[in-house]
Amino acid sequence: MKLYNTLTRKKEEFVPIEEGRVKMYVCGPTVYDYIHIGNARPYVIFDTVRRYFEYKGYKVDYIQNFTDVDDKIIRRANEEGVDASVIADRFVKEALNDAYGLNVKPATKNPRVTEEMDNIITMISTLIEKGYAYEVNGSVFYDTKAFKDYGKLSGKKIDELEAGARIEVDQNKKSPMDFVLWKPKKEGEPAWSSPWGEGRPGWHIECSVMAKAYLGDTIDIHAGGEDLIFPHHENEIAQSEAANGATFSNYWMHNGFINVDGVKMSKSEGNFFTIREISEKFPYEVIRFFILSGHYRGPINFSRELMESAQNGLERIKNAYSSLVFMLNNSDGTLKEDENATIEKLNGIRKYFEDSMDDDFNTADAVTAVFELSKLINVDLNENSSKELLEKTKNEFDELCDILGIIPAKQVKNSELTEDEILALIEKRAEAKKNKDYAGADKIRQELSDKGVVLEDTRQGVRWSYK
Ligand code: AMP
Ligand code: ZN
Repeated sequence: MKLYNTLTRKKEEFVPIEEGRVKMYVCGPTVYDYIHIGNARPYVIFDTVRRYFEYKGYKVDYIQNFTDVDDKIIRRANEEGVDASVIADRFVKEALNDAYGLNVKPATKNPRVTEEMDNIITMISTLIEKGYAYEVNGSVFYDTKAFKDYGKLSGKKIDELEAGARIEVDQNKKSPMDFVLWKPKKEGEPAWSSPWGEGRPGWHIECSVMAKAYLGDTIDIHAGGEDLIFPHHENEIAQSEAANGATFSNYWMHNGFINVDGVKMSKSEGNFFTIREISEKFPYEVIRFFILSGHYRGPINFSRELMESAQNGLERIKNAYSSLVFMLNNSDGTLKEDENATIEKLNGIRKYFEDSMDDDFNTADAVTAVFELSKLINVDLNENSSKELLEKTKNEFDELCDILGIIPAKQVKNSELTEDEILALIEKRAEAKKNKDYAGADKIRQELSDKGVVLEDTRQGVRWSYK
């Protein structure tokens, strides 16, 4: 399995620290508003990376933080006249709702800055003790010149950075490249007590602290959007490696941007679309499918046309799946001689899928494999196919779609009913019809319809699909 490592700028074979285990840390959002589709990209991409590792038999420890204290949260809290924690709690909940809608598996843990103050203070103290940080007037800064590898992730040279520094000048800093670890309390802001007086942490320290607390000094994969390479991840390396005396992360993965007319989607540009507003026009599963349709390192342009094309593509896959389930429910028998060629094709499709994912998680090609599978269902399978072949096809379909998280394998699509419950109701309806209880039969049809399932009476029997 190869993945592109931003640190070495090449694709590398993945070798875990501990056999059968992946320790993964993904930078999460700052919770002052709903997440937009740009923020959703790392959610969906790294969830898919996690799912693929799990498919390969790894146990994945997946940590994603919430930045729940920050200038923007405080500003919004002041505007609304509430405590910063009220804003943070609200948007943590909303981000989790969106993640759930996008079929992102729950993280092993979602640590929050405000709950990690002791660990944060401990790491800052260690950095001061080891000579990597200094205190001035209640602020603590990281001394970038003390860390000889500073710039290794982004490839930036500290002297050049210093010369062109656009970073705000702070009289207290020794160098403009130094960054803040602890800032003193300002009026009207939440604050915590520390050895340097009341205040709150700078942004970068939280991820170093949380990765250490929940995954250990060295982790396998650290991930986030490419805007985080510098300074956020560069600073995380400086903090963690100086404090722990160990490599921070063996692999660094970064997703490209979602753009609008060639410009990065962001709150500050005002060119953003929240997941919540997009979901009024396109279901969450289409948003996820759209994100997976491009390679994660490239840019994606967000447009209505591309969303519509994702919707149509997903529809094709779902139709093929419905017809597969229908054929399976009416089938019997073991594999027939002339079905071996189809088995070969199934194996070929699975291999193409795995080869694509093994090559730096090429989800765009993995999606192509699922289209191939849909084509195989439409072309190679029919009501005379053996149950064994149909079952094998369904297993492959379920497994591959489950890796992409596009069709929840068990409760396919929009119904609160399980497949077994649907079949039981169809059975009951047939029974009612046999007894000439047409009103009863209609009632069951209506009940299914209310729960998102439509029936079609065909010559081969009753065919059902999701709305
Ligand atoms: P933020 O709340 O801005 O810190 O962003 C949370 C996550 O979303 C980070 O991993 C960012 O890199 C990522 N992100 C923000 N904007 C975009 C975008 N337009 N495209 C892709 N990823 C983004
Ligand atoms: Zn981070």
